[in-house]
Amino acid sequence: MNHMGDTRCEPATAQQSRPTEEARTLPGDYHVHTTFSDGSGSVTECIERAIAVGLAEIGIADHISPVQPTPWQMPTIPFAELERYVAEVRDAASRYDEITVLLGIEADYLPEHEEHLRTLIDAWPFDYVIGGVHMVDGFDFNDPAMRHHPRWSDTDTLFAAYYETVRRGAEFGGFDIIAHLDYIGLWGHTSGAAVDDAIDTSLDAIAASGAAIELNTDRFSDPAGVMYPSSDLLRAARARGVPLVISSDAHAAEQVGLLWDEALERAAEAGFRGTLRLSDHTMVPLPQVPRRILGEERSS
Ligand SMILES: [Zn+2]
Ligand SMILES: [Zn+2]
Repeated sequence: MNHMGDTRCEPATAQQSRPTEEARTLPGDYHVHTTFSDGSGSVTECIERAIAVGLAEIGIADHISPVQPTPWQMPTIPFAELERYVAEVRDAASRYDEITVLLGIEADYLPEHEEHLRTLIDAWPFDYVIGGVHMVDGFDFNDPAMRHHPRWSDTDTLFAAYYETVRRGAEFGGFDIIAHLDYIGLWGHTSGAAVDDAIDTSLDAIAASGAAIELNTDRFSDPAGVMYPSSDLLRAARARGVPLVISSDAHAAEQVGLLWDEALERAAEAGFRGTLRLSDHTMVPLPQVPRRILGEERSS
Protein backbone atom coordinates (compact mmCIF):
# COMPACT_ATOMS: atom_id res chain seq x y z
CA MET A 1 0.00 0.00 0.00
CA ASN A 2 1.18 3.50 -0.37
CA HIS A 3 -1.72 5.69 0.65
CA MET A 4 -0.73 8.76 2.55
CA GLY A 5 -2.67 8.10 5.72
CA ASP A 6 -0.89 8.05 9.02
CA THR A 7 1.33 5.11 9.77
CA ARG A 8 0.79 4.78 13.47
CA CYS A 9 1.63 1.55 15.08
CA GLU A 10 2.56 0.48 18.50
CA PRO A 11 6.32 0.81 18.79
CA ALA A 12 8.16 -2.07 20.36
CA THR A 13 11.79 -2.16 21.23
CA ALA A 14 13.98 -5.08 20.35
CA GLN A 15 14.28 -5.86 24.05
CA GLN A 16 10.51 -6.09 24.46
CA SER A 17 10.12 -8.35 21.47
CA ARG A 18 13.15 -10.62 21.68
CA PRO A 19 11.79 -13.89 20.34
CA THR A 20 11.50 -17.07 22.28
CA GLU A 21 12.60 -20.33 20.69
CA GLU A 22 9.09 -21.06 19.48
CA ALA A 23 8.92 -17.77 17.57
CA ARG A 24 12.12 -18.19 15.59
CA THR A 25 10.45 -19.88 12.69
CA LEU A 26 8.07 -17.07 11.81
CA PRO A 27 7.68 -16.79 8.03
CA GLY A 28 9.63 -14.20 6.11
CA ASP A 29 8.36 -10.67 5.59
CA TYR A 30 8.88 -9.84 1.93
CA HIS A 31 7.06 -6.51 1.70
CA VAL A 32 9.14 -3.88 3.48
CA HIS A 33 9.59 -0.26 2.41
CA THR A 34 12.61 1.81 3.39
CA THR A 35 13.84 5.36 2.92
CA PHE A 36 14.59 4.44 -0.71
CA SER A 37 10.87 5.07 -1.36
CA ASP A 38 8.26 6.05 1.22
CA GLY A 39 9.42 4.14 4.31
CA SER A 40 11.01 5.81 7.31
CA GLY A 41 13.38 2.99 8.27
CA SER A 42 16.76 2.28 6.75
CA VAL A 43 17.53 -1.09 5.21
CA THR A 44 19.64 -1.98 8.26
CA GLU A 45 16.97 -0.89 10.75
CA CYS A 46 14.35 -3.05 9.03
CA ILE A 47 16.66 -6.09 9.04
CA GLU A 48 17.50 -5.58 12.72
CA ARG A 49 13.82 -5.46 13.52
CA ALA A 50 13.16 -8.67 11.57
CA ILE A 51 15.87 -10.42 13.57
CA ALA A 52 14.46 -9.06 16.84
CA VAL A 53 10.98 -10.46 16.21
CA GLY A 54 12.27 -13.81 14.99
CA LEU A 55 11.50 -13.75 11.28
CA ALA A 56 13.15 -16.39 9.14
CA GLU A 57 13.74 -14.07 6.18
CA ILE A 58 13.22 -10.48 5.13
CA GLY A 59 12.81 -9.00 1.69
CA ILE A 60 13.23 -5.30 1.03
CA ALA A 61 10.67 -4.24 -1.58
CA ASP A 62 10.53 -0.53 -2.19
CA HIS A 63 8.18 1.04 -4.70
CA ILE A 64 9.21 1.31 -8.30
CA SER A 65 7.18 2.78 -11.13
CA PRO A 66 7.91 1.92 -14.75
CA VAL A 67 7.31 5.50 -15.79
CA GLN A 68 9.06 8.45 -14.21
CA PRO A 69 8.42 11.09 -13.23
CA THR A 70 5.09 9.69 -12.13
CA PRO A 71 2.14 11.96 -12.95
CA TRP A 72 0.39 10.79 -9.79
CA GLN A 73 1.23 10.68 -6.11
CA MET A 74 2.88 7.25 -6.13
CA PRO A 75 6.19 7.14 -4.34
CA THR A 76 8.97 5.43 -6.27
CA ILE A 77 12.69 4.82 -6.27
CA PRO A 78 14.08 7.22 -8.86
CA PHE A 79 15.76 5.32 -11.69
CA ALA A 80 19.02 7.06 -10.83
CA GLU A 81 18.87 5.56 -7.32
CA LEU A 82 18.30 1.94 -8.35
CA GLU A 83 21.96 1.04 -8.51
CA ARG A 84 22.49 2.30 -4.96
CA TYR A 85 19.33 0.45 -3.80
CA VAL A 86 20.50 -2.85 -5.23
CA ALA A 87 24.00 -2.39 -3.83
CA GLU A 88 22.81 -1.46 -0.35
CA VAL A 89 20.42 -4.42 -0.01
CA ARG A 90 23.01 -6.83 -1.42
CA ASP A 91 25.63 -5.46 0.95
CA ALA A 92 23.27 -5.88 3.91
CA ALA A 93 22.52 -9.44 2.81
CA SER A 94 26.22 -10.25 2.95
CA ARG A 95 26.62 -8.84 6.45
CA TYR A 96 23.95 -10.90 8.25
CA ASP A 97 24.32 -14.59 9.03
CA GLU A 98 21.28 -14.80 11.29
CA ILE A 99 18.71 -13.93 8.65
CA THR A 100 18.29 -14.30 4.90
CA VAL A 101 17.95 -10.91 3.21
CA LEU A 102 16.35 -10.78 -0.23
CA LEU A 103 16.30 -8.05 -2.82
CA GLY A 104 12.76 -7.34 -3.94
CA ILE A 105 10.72 -4.57 -5.42
CA GLU A 106 7.05 -3.54 -5.35
CA ALA A 107 6.31 -2.61 -8.93
CA ASP A 108 3.32 -0.52 -9.93
CA TYR A 109 1.32 -2.51 -12.39
CA LEU A 110 -0.01 -0.25 -15.14
CA PRO A 111 -1.33 -2.24 -18.13
CA GLU A 112 -0.30 0.44 -20.60
CA HIS A 113 3.32 0.29 -19.41
CA GLU A 114 3.99 -3.44 -19.41
CA GLU A 115 6.90 -3.11 -21.81
CA HIS A 116 8.62 -0.50 -19.65
CA LEU A 117 8.06 -2.65 -16.61
CA ARG A 118 9.46 -5.78 -18.25
CA THR A 119 12.59 -3.89 -19.25
CA LEU A 120 12.99 -2.53 -15.74
CA ILE A 121 12.52 -5.90 -14.05
CA ASP A 122 14.96 -7.57 -16.42
CA ALA A 123 17.60 -4.89 -15.94
CA TRP A 124 18.20 -5.56 -12.26
CA PRO A 125 18.92 -8.73 -10.28
CA PHE A 126 15.79 -8.73 -8.14
CA ASP A 127 15.19 -11.94 -6.19
CA TYR A 128 11.45 -11.40 -6.60
CA VAL A 129 8.93 -8.84 -7.77
CA ILE A 130 5.69 -7.84 -6.06
CA GLY A 131 2.99 -6.53 -8.35
CA GLY A 132 0.92 -3.75 -6.86
CA VAL A 133 -2.23 -2.30 -8.38
CA HIS A 134 -2.60 1.23 -7.05
CA MET A 135 -4.22 2.76 -10.15
CA VAL A 136 -7.23 1.73 -12.22
CA ASP A 137 -7.64 3.19 -15.70
CA GLY A 138 -5.54 6.18 -14.69
CA PHE A 139 -7.55 6.66 -11.51
CA ASP A 140 -5.31 6.94 -8.46
CA PHE A 141 -7.85 5.32 -6.16
CA ASN A 142 -5.62 5.19 -3.10
CA ASP A 143 -4.86 8.90 -3.11
CA PRO A 144 -6.81 10.53 -0.26
CA ALA A 145 -7.50 13.46 -2.57
CA MET A 146 -9.53 11.05 -4.75
CA ARG A 147 -11.58 9.71 -1.88
CA HIS A 148 -14.74 11.61 -2.88
CA HIS A 149 -14.21 11.41 -6.62
CA PRO A 150 -17.40 10.77 -8.66
CA ARG A 151 -16.04 7.36 -9.73
CA TRP A 152 -16.88 6.05 -6.28
CA SER A 153 -20.58 6.58 -7.02
CA ASP A 154 -20.48 3.42 -9.19
CA THR A 155 -18.44 1.12 -7.03
CA ASP A 156 -19.30 -2.07 -8.93
CA THR A 157 -17.87 -0.66 -12.15
CA LEU A 158 -14.76 0.57 -10.37
CA PHE A 159 -14.27 -2.68 -8.46
CA ALA A 160 -14.70 -4.71 -11.65
CA ALA A 161 -12.11 -2.52 -13.37
CA TYR A 162 -9.76 -3.08 -10.44
CA TYR A 163 -10.06 -6.88 -10.66
CA GLU A 164 -9.67 -6.68 -14.42
CA THR A 165 -6.38 -4.83 -13.82
CA VAL A 166 -5.32 -7.48 -11.30
CA ARG A 167 -6.13 -10.18 -13.87
CA ARG A 168 -4.01 -8.44 -16.49
CA GLY A 169 -1.24 -8.05 -13.95
CA ALA A 170 -1.28 -11.78 -13.25
CA GLU A 171 -1.27 -12.56 -16.95
CA PHE A 172 1.65 -10.16 -17.42
CA GLY A 173 3.59 -12.95 -15.74
CA GLY A 174 6.36 -10.93 -14.13
CA PHE A 175 5.18 -11.09 -10.53
CA ASP A 176 6.10 -13.50 -7.76
CA ILE A 177 3.58 -11.96 -5.38
CA ILE A 178 0.36 -10.06 -6.03
CA ALA A 179 0.09 -7.33 -3.40
CA HIS A 180 -2.87 -6.46 -1.20
CA LEU A 181 -5.62 -8.10 -3.22
CA ASP A 182 -8.94 -6.22 -2.79
CA TYR A 183 -7.17 -3.02 -1.80
CA ILE A 184 -9.82 -1.19 -3.84
CA GLY A 185 -11.93 -1.39 -0.67
CA LEU A 186 -9.61 0.83 1.31
CA TRP A 187 -12.15 3.62 1.72
CA GLY A 188 -14.77 1.25 3.09
CA HIS A 189 -16.70 0.45 -0.11
CA THR A 190 -17.80 -3.07 -0.92
CA SER A 191 -18.74 -4.71 -4.16
CA GLY A 192 -22.01 -6.28 -5.25
CA ALA A 193 -22.65 -9.65 -6.86
CA ALA A 194 -22.08 -8.09 -10.28
CA VAL A 195 -18.34 -8.04 -9.51
CA ASP A 196 -18.11 -11.72 -8.58
CA ASP A 197 -17.17 -12.88 -12.07
CA ALA A 198 -14.34 -10.35 -12.28
CA ILE A 199 -13.07 -11.49 -8.88
CA ASP A 200 -13.18 -15.16 -9.88
CA THR A 201 -11.45 -14.45 -13.18
CA SER A 202 -8.66 -12.53 -11.45
CA LEU A 203 -8.14 -15.37 -8.96
CA ASP A 204 -8.05 -17.91 -11.78
CA ALA A 205 -5.40 -15.81 -13.52
CA ILE A 206 -3.32 -15.54 -10.34
CA ALA A 207 -3.51 -19.31 -9.87
CA ALA A 208 -2.49 -19.91 -13.48
CA SER A 209 0.45 -17.49 -13.18
CA GLY A 210 1.97 -19.33 -10.22
CA ALA A 211 2.23 -16.08 -8.23
CA ALA A 212 1.56 -16.01 -4.51
CA ILE A 213 -0.83 -13.64 -2.84
CA GLU A 214 -0.05 -11.89 0.39
CA LEU A 215 -1.94 -11.49 3.60
CA ASN A 216 -1.12 -7.84 4.18
CA THR A 217 -1.06 -7.09 7.90
CA ASP A 218 -0.88 -3.32 7.66
CA ARG A 219 -4.24 -2.61 9.21
CA PHE A 220 -2.87 0.15 11.43
CA SER A 221 -2.28 2.61 8.61
CA ASP A 222 -5.06 1.35 6.39
CA PRO A 223 -8.06 3.72 6.25
CA ALA A 224 -10.48 0.78 6.47
CA GLY A 225 -8.42 -0.72 9.31
CA VAL A 226 -8.36 -4.18 7.79
CA MET A 227 -5.87 -6.71 6.51
CA TYR A 228 -6.03 -7.50 2.79
CA PRO A 229 -7.51 -9.61 1.35
CA SER A 230 -10.80 -10.47 3.00
CA SER A 231 -11.30 -13.94 4.47
CA ASP A 232 -13.61 -14.83 1.57
CA LEU A 233 -10.89 -14.00 -0.95
CA LEU A 234 -8.28 -15.84 1.09
CA ARG A 235 -10.45 -18.96 1.04
CA ALA A 236 -11.13 -18.59 -2.68
CA ALA A 237 -7.40 -18.30 -3.37
CA ARG A 238 -6.68 -21.27 -1.14
CA ALA A 239 -9.24 -23.35 -3.02
CA ARG A 240 -7.33 -22.62 -6.24
CA GLY A 241 -4.00 -23.63 -4.73
CA VAL A 242 -2.56 -20.11 -4.73
CA PRO A 243 0.45 -19.91 -2.37
CA LEU A 244 0.41 -17.40 0.47
CA VAL A 245 2.98 -15.12 2.02
CA ILE A 246 2.43 -12.88 5.01
CA SER A 247 3.49 -9.27 4.47
CA SER A 248 3.69 -6.31 6.79
CA ASP A 249 3.88 -3.71 4.00
CA ALA A 250 6.01 -1.95 6.61
CA HIS A 251 6.66 1.73 6.12
CA ALA A 252 8.60 1.96 9.39
CA ALA A 253 11.12 -0.47 10.86
CA GLU A 254 8.94 -1.21 13.90
CA GLN A 255 6.16 -2.46 11.60
CA VAL A 256 8.26 -5.34 10.23
CA GLY A 257 6.62 -8.60 11.30
CA LEU A 258 3.84 -6.75 13.08
CA LEU A 259 0.68 -8.78 13.79
CA TRP A 260 2.20 -12.06 12.55
CA ASP A 261 0.26 -13.94 15.22
CA GLU A 262 -3.06 -12.57 14.03
CA ALA A 263 -2.13 -13.16 10.39
CA LEU A 264 -1.12 -16.76 11.04
CA GLU A 265 -4.46 -17.40 12.70
CA ARG A 266 -6.32 -15.86 9.77
CA ALA A 267 -4.31 -17.89 7.29
CA ALA A 268 -5.06 -21.09 9.17
CA GLU A 269 -8.75 -20.21 9.41
CA ALA A 270 -8.82 -19.76 5.63
CA GLY A 271 -7.43 -23.26 5.18
CA PHE A 272 -3.77 -22.53 4.51
CA ARG A 273 -1.37 -25.02 6.01
CA GLY A 274 1.83 -23.26 5.02
CA THR A 275 3.40 -20.17 3.51
CA LEU A 276 5.82 -19.75 0.66
CA ARG A 277 9.49 -19.32 1.56
CA LEU A 278 10.87 -17.20 -1.23
CA SER A 279 14.57 -17.98 -0.82
CA ASP A 280 14.04 -21.51 -2.14
CA HIS A 281 10.41 -21.37 -3.31
CA THR A 282 9.39 -23.98 -0.79
CA MET A 283 6.16 -24.22 1.15
CA VAL A 284 6.82 -24.30 4.89
CA PRO A 285 4.21 -25.21 7.51
CA LEU A 286 2.48 -22.45 9.44
CA PRO A 287 4.12 -22.21 12.86
CA GLN A 288 1.99 -22.35 15.95
CA VAL A 289 2.49 -18.93 17.49
CA PRO A 290 0.72 -18.19 20.74
CA ARG A 291 -0.65 -14.66 20.73
CA ARG A 292 1.29 -13.83 23.85
CA ILE A 293 4.54 -13.78 21.89
CA LEU A 294 3.68 -10.94 19.59
CA GLY A 295 0.46 -9.84 21.22
CA GLU A 296 2.24 -7.39 23.50
CA GLU A 297 2.92 -5.24 20.43
CA ARG A 298 -0.69 -4.89 19.47
CA SER A 299 -2.73 -1.83 20.23
CA SER A 300 -5.98 -3.69 20.59
ZN1 LIG B 1 3.81 -1.67 -0.26
ZN1 LIG C 1 1.18 -1.34 -2.52
